[in-house]
Amino acid sequence: MDESPLDRSIQFIKGVGPQRAALLGRLGLQTVSDLLFNLPRDLLDLTQVTPMGSIVEGESCQVRGRVVDLDARPTRKGGTVTGVAIEAHGQYVRGIWFNQPWILPKFRFNDCVLFSGKPKRRAGRWEFSSPHVQWLDPDDTDAHGGVIPRYHLTEGLKMPEMRRITRGAVEEFAHLVPDPLPEACRAELELPSLAQAVRLVHLPVTVEQFQQGLRRIVHQDLLEFQLGLSLRRRAWQRTAMAPVIPLTAKVDARIRRLFPFPFTGGQDRAIREICHDLGLGRAMHRLLQADVGAGKTVVAIYSLLLTVAAGYQGVLMAPTEVLARQHWQTLERCLAHSRVERVLLTGQLTPAERREAQEKIRSGQAQLIVGTQALIQKDVSFGRLGLVVIDEQHRFGVRQRARFAADAITPHTLVMTATPIPRSLCLTQFGDLDLSLMDELPPGRQPVSTHIVATGPQQTKAWEFLVRKLAAGRQAYVVCPRIEGEEESLAMTEPPATGEDGTAVAPAPPANTSSAEQVFKELRTGLLKDFRVGLLHGQLAGEHKQEIMRLFRAGELQALVSTTVIEVGVDVPNASLLVVFDAERFGLAQLHQLRGRVGRGVHQGYCFLFPSSATPESQKRLEVLVRHSSGFEVAEADFRLRGPGDVLGTRQHGDLPLESADLFRDASLLPTTRDQAQELVRSGRLDTPEYAPLKQRVLSRFGELMEISGGG
Ligand code: ADP
Ligand code: MG
Repeated sequence: MDESPLDRSIQFIKGVGPQRAALLGRLGLQTVSDLLFNLPRDLLDLTQVTPMGSIVEGESCQVRGRVVDLDARPTRKGGTVTGVAIEAHGQYVRGIWFNQPWILPKFRFNDCVLFSGKPKRRAGRWEFSSPHVQWLDPDDTDAHGGVIPRYHLTEGLKMPEMRRITRGAVEEFAHLVPDPLPEACRAELELPSLAQAVRLVHLPVTVEQFQQGLRRIVHQDLLEFQLGLSLRRRAWQRTAMAPVIPLTAKVDARIRRLFPFPFTGGQDRAIREICHDLGLGRAMHRLLQADVGAGKTVVAIYSLLLTVAAGYQGVLMAPTEVLARQHWQTLERCLAHSRVERVLLTGQLTPAERREAQEKIRSGQAQLIVGTQALIQKDVSFGRLGLVVIDEQHRFGVRQRARFAADAITPHTLVMTATPIPRSLCLTQFGDLDLSLMDELPPGRQPVSTHIVATGPQQTKAWEFLVRKLAAGRQAYVVCPRIEGEEESLAMTEPPATGEDGTAVAPAPPANTSSAEQVFKELRTGLLKDFRVGLLHGQLAGEHKQEIMRLFRAGELQALVSTTVIEVGVDVPNASLLVVFDAERFGLAQLHQLRGRVGRGVHQGYCFLFPSSATPESQKRLEVLVRHSSGFEVAEADFRLRGPGDVLGTRQHGDLPLESADLFRDASLLPTTRDQAQELVRSGRLDTPEYAPLKQRVLSRFGELMEISGGG
C-alpha cells in the first residue's frame, strides 16, 4: 500500500528543513499528521478588542497597544507601584500594579500586549488596575478574522514560524485526512468531517468555529477509547466457560446466618446484581463502588461463599498485608464452625508455608483464599478458580485485573473501591465494567464530625476532648505524614497536587512535618501518658505490625499513632477519634479514607485535622471535608479543585491513553461517546464494512493495551 502523504516526515512540509524538523521533533511532532493534530494550546481572540477611543468606564474590555513607558515607584506606605503605558493610534492607557514589583521585568519597550480588565478614568487617562496581560507577537494581526491559535513552542522555534508551518500544512494536507466516521453517522450527530475539524482548529474565523473543530477531534479521540473498552468487554463476555454459580434459597439463608446483622438495602441490591451475573455462565466484570464503611466486605464474603458452595475456589485480594489479615480474621470469625478450607497467602509466609499454600491452591483443596499481591505471582496457579474479589482496586494498577485469568475457565471478577470516582470519570476508567453502587450506610451511622483545628489553644482543647473520650472507653488514631525524622514524606501516596500550570508541586521538605515516631514519643510521655499508646508504620517487621493491630483491635491499646498504613479498610468499630497531623499534606480522597476509620460503630466519630501551615488553598481543600460527609461529594469537590488526574490517582495525561481529550475540559463528552460506543458494538454496526476504518483505528490504538483483537 502506498504511504499516505500524512505519514510522511514533517521535513517534507514547505518551509521545514532538517533543522526545523529537529525542533518540531522535540515537541513530539514527526509526521505531517502529527502536525495537523497538534492542537493549539489556546486561542487569542482579537475580535473582542475595544478601540481605545470607545472605552467605557467600569465595563470589562480588552485593549491592544505597544509598550511606550515603564516605571516603578515607591509608595508612601513603603510599597511599590508599577506602571506600564501602552499606545495605539496616538492614544494611551496605563496598567498599574501595587506591590508586585516582579511585573516590571516582564515588559519591554515596544512589546505588543493586550490588557483586559475594567478601566477607570484617572487624571485624564484610562487606567487598568492589575489587568490581565497577554503578549502578542508582531504577527498576531487580524489577518484571520482576529482569532489566532497559539501553539506550544520550544527553544529556537517562534510562534509566527510555528503558525506559518502549521497553516501551510493545513492548506496542503488537511483535505487528505481520512474520516473514520461514516458520513451518515456524522450527519446524525451534526459533526463536521475530521478534515474540516482540522481546518477549524488551526484556521478559525470565530471562536465558535475553533470550538466546533476541537469538539470533533476530542469526540473522535474519546469515541475510539470507549470503543476499545466496549470491545474489551465484548471479548470478555464472549469468552466461553465462565463457571455457572447458582443461587439457592438454602445457600442464601446459610450465608446470611453467619452475620449478626441484617443486610442493608444497598448490600442486598449489590448481591442481587452479582448473583445474576454469576448465574449466566459468562464472566462477570463488576465494579462495586461504595463509600467508606458501607459494608463492602459483607458483599465480598457472600459472593465468595456462594462460589465455594458451587464447588469453585474464591479469592479475596487486598492491597496491604494489614488489610489481608483483617479480612482473614473476619472470615475466621464468620466461618468458625464451618469446614470451608481456607488459605492465607501473603508475602510474609516462610518458604515452606508458601509452598504448602500454593499446593493447596493448585490442587483445589483450598476453597477460600485470602491474600495480597502475592496471589498474582507467576508461581501461583489455581485449581478451580471461580471468583476473584479485589478489594480497594484503586490501590492496584489498572491492568492487574486481567492477571488471574486462568486458561481453561475465566473466573468472575468483582472489584471493589471506596474511592468514589465522580460518575463522569468512572465511565472512562472503568467503562468496561458493570457498576453496582451502594450509597447507603448501615443503620445508626452518623457523619463523622470533622474539624479543622488551628495550632494553639484550639488544639489543646481538641486533645482534652480526646482524653475525655479515651477515658470513657473509646479509641483513637493519630496519623502523621512521616515515620521518622529524615524520612521522605509518606503522605502523598496519591500524586501531589498540581499547580496552576499543571506541573506537580514538589512536596515541601519534610523537615517541618510531624513524624510518627516523634509524635508517639511526645504523646506517650505527655498528653496521653495515662493511656496505652501504640506505634504502627510500614517499616515495622510484619509480626510486630500484626501484634500492634491485634492489641488495638482488642482494645488493649487505646491510641494508635500511625502513618497511612491504616488508610484503607482497617475496621475497628470502637475507634471513634482521629487526629491527622499536617492534614494539608494528604489528598482529599486519602483524608476521606482516613476519616472512614472512625464512626464505624455505634459511637459518634470525630476527625480533627491539624494543618501545619494554612494557605488559603489548603484551607479551602480541607473545608471540603468539613462540609461534605459523603465520599461522592468529596470526590466531586476534589475533582473541581484539582482536576481529574489526581482524583483517579493517575496523572491527567498519564495512564489514560488519550490524544487530545482533557477529562476535565471535556467531561461532558464522556457519557455521549460511551453510549455511542456501546451502541455501535452491541448492534454489530462496528463490524460492518462501513465502519471498518473506525474499527481498524481502534484496534491499532488499543488492541495490545486492552488485549483485544479483531475477531473478538
Ligand atoms: P467498607 O465498605 O469500608 O469495606 P466494611 O465492610 O469494613 O466497610 O464494613 C464496615 C463496618 O460496618 C464493619 O464493622 C461491618 O461489620 C459493619 N457492617 C457491615 N454491614 C453491616 C450491616 N448491614 N449492618 C450493620 N453493620 C454492618
Ligand atoms: Mg473495606
